[in-house]
Amino acid sequence: MSRERRRTRASVALPVVPETPEVPVPPAAPAPRRKKVVAEAPPPYLLDFFPPETEAGTRLVRFFDRLREGRLSTTRCAKDDLLHWPPRTACPRCHTEELEWVDLPDRGRLYAFSAVLAGAPQGMERDVPFAVGLVDLDGAPLRLFGRVDGRPWNELEIGATVRVESYEVPDGRVFYRFRAIG
Ligand SMILES: [Zn+2]
Repeated sequence: MSRERRRTRASVALPVVPETPEVPVPPAAPAPRRKKVVAEAPPPYLLDFFPPETEAGTRLVRFFDRLREGRLSTTRCAKDDLLHWPPRTACPRCHTEELEWVDLPDRGRLYAFSAVLAGAPQGMERDVPFAVGLVDLDGAPLRLFGRVDGRPWNELEIGATVRVESYEVPDGRVFYRFRAIG
C-alpha cells in the first residue's frame, strides 16, 4: 500500500457514536440461600465390569465357582442340546430350566482384537493400554469376548493361540481372561 493512500484513509472522518444514556438498574433481588452440598463419596465415574458372584447375587454362581477351580464352563440345554454362551438359567430356544453344566476348552484362536487406550473399567485403569478380543474356542462353536493378556496389544496377531485363564479380581471375585501363547 502506498504512503499516499494510507494518508487518505487516515483522514476519513469516522461517524460519531452517540453516548448511551444511563439506564437506572433496578436493585438486585436477594440471592436465594443455597443448601451446601457435601460429597460423601467420589462419584462413580467407572463401571464395574465384573458381575456379582454370590449365591444371593446370581443364579449362575456355579460358573464362578468352577472358574475359581480354573474351569471355564457354560450351560447346555438338557432337552435340545443347545450350548449357551454366556451361561443361562433357562434355555433361550425352548425355555426349559433343565440345563447341565459343561466344561469348555481352555484353548482358542484370536478372531479379532482391539486396544483399550482410555476409559478402562474399574480395576483396569492402571493397565491401559491393553487388548480385548474375540476368541473362537477350539472344538466348541463359541466365540467369546474377553481381555487378552500375555503380549502388548500392538504385537498381537489375528489367529494367535490363546489360553483361557482364571483371573482373581482384587475384591475376591473371579473372571476369565485370555493369554496369548502362540
Ligand atoms: Zn433348549
